[in-house]
Amino acid sequence: MSDIIQLLPDHVANQIAAGEVVQRPASVVKELLENAIDAGATSIKLLLKDAGKTLIQVIDNGKGMSNTDARLSFERHATSKIKDAQDLFNLNTKGFRGEALASIAAIAHVELKTKLAQDELGTQLKIEGSKVISQEVISTSAGTSIAVKNLFFNIPARRNFLKSDTIETRHIVDEFQRVALAHPDISFLLHHNGNEIYHLKESNLRKRVVAVFGAKMNEKLVPINETTDLITVNGFVAKPEFSKKKRGEQFFFVNNRFIKSSYLNHAVVSAFEGLLENGYHPSYFLYLTVPPNSIDINIHPTKTEIKFDNEKAIYAILRATVKHSLGQYNVSPVLDFNRDSSLDTPYDFKGKSTTSTPKITVDPNFNPFKTEPQQSFQPKTSSYTKSTDTQSWESLYTSVEAIESPSQNQLFHQEEETETGKTFQIQKKYLLSSIKSGMVLINQSLAHQRVLYEEFLENITVNEAMSQQLLFPVHISFSKTDIEMIQSMKSDLENTGFLFESIADEAIVIKGIPTSITESQISLILEQLLDDMKLEVPETSFSHFDVMAKSFAKSLAIKTGTALSNKEQENLVNDLFSCKEPSVSPFGKATFKTLTIKEIDAIFNSH
Ligand code: ADP
Ligand code: MG
Repeated sequence: MSDIIQLLPDHVANQIAAGEVVQRPASVVKELLENAIDAGATSIKLLLKDAGKTLIQVIDNGKGMSNTDARLSFERHATSKIKDAQDLFNLNTKGFRGEALASIAAIAHVELKTKLAQDELGTQLKIEGSKVISQEVISTSAGTSIAVKNLFFNIPARRNFLKSDTIETRHIVDEFQRVALAHPDISFLLHHNGNEIYHLKESNLRKRVVAVFGAKMNEKLVPINETTDLITVNGFVAKPEFSKKKRGEQFFFVNNRFIKSSYLNHAVVSAFEGLLENGYHPSYFLYLTVPPNSIDINIHPTKTEIKFDNEKAIYAILRATVKHSLGQYNVSPVLDFNRDSSLDTPYDFKGKSTTSTPKITVDPNFNPFKTEPQQSFQPKTSSYTKSTDTQSWESLYTSVEAIESPSQNQLFHQEEETETGKTFQIQKKYLLSSIKSGMVLINQSLAHQRVLYEEFLENITVNEAMSQQLLFPVHISFSKTDIEMIQSMKSDLENTGFLFESIADEAIVIKGIPTSITESQISLILEQLLDDMKLEVPETSFSHFDVMAKSFAKSLAIKTGTALSNKEQENLVNDLFSCKEPSVSPFGKATFKTLTIKEIDAIFNSH
């Protein structure tokens, strides 16, 4: 048989390589930003259209390229950053593989403009799918601008695999934040569809972290500074009381390169030992500097993982340094996680009403001509009111017969009659109640999640939530990206009962809140919601509502460890069984288990 092996043409090889380098618009953003930094830019602009699907443009004021280099830069394995393999062990640049531009040009329409500072004129180059369309001498400013249009135009399958604009933008913002945090001395601009998302001025580390994550971050930061022979550690950890339920702001940079390392993460988390509540994660921004020849960054194609020569020592230093700083800032001894549990539960409102600021409850449904009397002035947490118009709500659960729900007020109003038998609370965790066929064991926290979830979902979808006006509007600061998210959820949040006075650049002002929450819970539930939204990134409007309702339910449900009065227990049981789907929590866990008399008998007759 004749020879069958042949070399792939360059454009095919480039397309294949592109699959590795460019998974989505965010990968292009990362490569272009890194090239601008390697070029010594002090100012970098990132312009996006349609989450980068239509346009990703990076404009820098770096050193630019000569006419010949401009053309060469799009060749595969064309790099100015290393000359031989030895250089790999002493890297001071982000790039070195020389395949990013070649890969990007293979799968998009690329327009490059570049000029060396000392040159009069610059170069413009247009390439589509590896094919050079034109190369011209132009007048342009010093530095480089690369516009990448119509990503994956020639690989429809890849294009179809791209996620919604929300998700792709999220990925881009993640990359942008990593680069911006790694280089506080460089100014960055991010525009999306003409809107300014970030304008980060040249600054120091602390100011950059605050500029990226919002003014509120400033008070949370504990500085970390340690220099040893092996490594220098700088940066910040967030005080333990600001830890999050989701891994959010966790950043390691090694020699100014963002990296992921579960090993180093473990070192930091273990420094927080005893200071974190179960399931909470610390935020940190840690900058490690090591001699370039003591790390190997070549083990991962997208270069977010690296290998240290002295892994164990670095672990120990990191842990000790963080521990020491936490101790110095006196954050260790004052913590008490068994703090006022009333902050977590709407059940505890009774004893507090005399000390808290009185609030006026405004009932948007109030109709003086209705015969049925409505209370418009109530203790704040007791004003759960079920909507009377349940049509669109029912339609979500068409298979379930409409049940006349008893009012949520039963949780708090002693005068209501209930049908369940006596209930007992076990270990402040479970409720036990006698039923016709035997008995039922209910998980109080999961049951309450279900109740709250259905209530919020109903409010959001049926639009009849009650709002309590705050006497003094509450200001909360958030990062710009969080503000964008809140803005996009504004009308849904209003449906739950939130009223906004303003949503501005870095802060929101809230003048009304759902009747089912207290003022002290606002910040908690909004932060939880943002975390959940980032994690789930709902694509349809219904799943949007759903994530929101779940998030609120999770934040507000009574927790294990909360003692409930007999009446509260009964009301919870009643409310649970008035739910459309009483048997599972919003997160799919069983809320109760029944034991029939037969099953109970069997326990005792088994011997
Ligand atoms: P690498 O960064 O691994 O060298 P790239 O394909 O990303 O490979 O870039 C190829 C070369 O093009 C770089 O080595 C650099 O010389 C040049 N280059 C790319 N982007 C820029 C830029 N923004 N400014 C100046 N030169 C650049
Ligand atoms: Mg590069």
